[in-house]
Amino acid sequence: PDRLRAVAAELVDDSAADAWDRAGRIPEETVRTAGAQGLMAAQIPRRYGGPGLSSADNGELTAFVGSRCSSLRSLMTSQGMAAWTVQRLGERQQRAALLPRLAGGAQAAVAFSEPEAGSDLSAMATRIEPDGDSVVVTGEKVWITAACYADLLVVFGRYGDGAAAVVVPATAPGVTVERVPEPMGCRAAGHAHLRLDGVRVPAGDVLGGAGQSTDLLVGTALSYGRMSVAWGCVGILRGCLAAVGRHARTRQQFGKPLAGHQLVARHVAELLAAEQTATRACAHASHCWDTRSPEMVSATVLAKYVSSRQAAAGAATAVQVLASAGARDGHPVARAYRDAKLMEIIEGSSEICELLLAEHALSVYT
Ligand code: FAD
Repeated sequence: PDRLRAVAAELVDDSAADAWDRAGRIPEETVRTAGAQGLMAAQIPRRYGGPGLSSADNGELTAFVGSRCSSLRSLMTSQGMAAWTVQRLGERQQRAALLPRLAGGAQAAVAFSEPEAGSDLSAMATRIEPDGDSVVVTGEKVWITAACYADLLVVFGRYGDGAAAVVVPATAPGVTVERVPEPMGCRAAGHAHLRLDGVRVPAGDVLGGAGQSTDLLVGTALSYGRMSVAWGCVGILRGCLAAVGRHARTRQQFGKPLAGHQLVARHVAELLAAEQTATRACAHASHCWDTRSPEMVSATVLAKYVSSRQAAAGAATAVQVLASAGARDGHPVARAYRDAKLMEIIEGSSEICELLLAEHALSVYT
């Protein structure tokens, strides 16, 4: 973890993150370097050429990157989610072929969402149809993080009466990648809409065979995504605390530093409580991953729910303390404010998390 943290520290600081946010793009070379160094999917096991970090260590690494740049952290989330999907759903030869590529820097994006299938992924209309030794993929995907950088797309769709996930090269004939114009936040995360127009790939690239349940397929990928987003939100809160600390100690009003005013001190206390609450929820969920606890799924949903809500509220608090100093593009708290709000929408919105948590509570407290 220390080596990867040093790699991340070398690749991104506040000024790079700001430049990427304004340009709406991370330099290709940075993405390639981060990938080749193992930063992007650090839980890939060593036997496949990955760093083999635990969920807890990868979580702290994700928070570190998230404290500096949610766009780069979003790419880590997509890459890790793709790798986890291959690791969990792929057959032996698929894991052996794909995981070393993902560990070595090939970039991947994961595509569930469609124009008519957002929270309700059972409404996915993309079709994956067998045709001899191939499958043919037809459909439309929206808001796919990292798709503008991706070499590989993990595409979910209908297959017969069930569902399937298939690995599609981004350059395959029939794939169109169209950048999402001017996203509110994570502006350099390469979100794109995809059109898949009769895209033919080998049947052997359907992960783990076809016709599985949508819940199992999607749930596998989303679990990793939620864990990664949750730790990214811890990072947003830590970045906000650093910016607030610097400002509240130095900016004077009414003859003393802002931090000396009790109502401002309360904001600082609230931010710390938010960061600590989110960290504890994430650390518990990662512990569940690392010990293969049956509580893993519910703890992950809880971590994502708590951390994203705390990050959205905490980033708003940070802007309040910075006031005019933070009320412009280019300031880390302004970026955090835009980025954090999106974390309440993705990988299962707060409302979808609430439904899952209520279902869990009702099954436990009978
Ligand atoms: P809708 O499903 O239309 O929901 C609208 C509102 O209604 C939300 O508040 C929702 O919580 C609420 N709602 C819906 N159903 C219920 C219900 N049953 N009960 C209570 N409330 C409900 N998708 C991918 O496949 N891959 C990606 O990499 C990816 N990255 C993304 C990155 C960003 C920045 C964003 C904004 C989106 C991304 N998405 C991605 C899409 C994302 O997964 C969807 O936006 C999300 O699932 C919500 O779907 P929707 O936007 O269609 O909202």
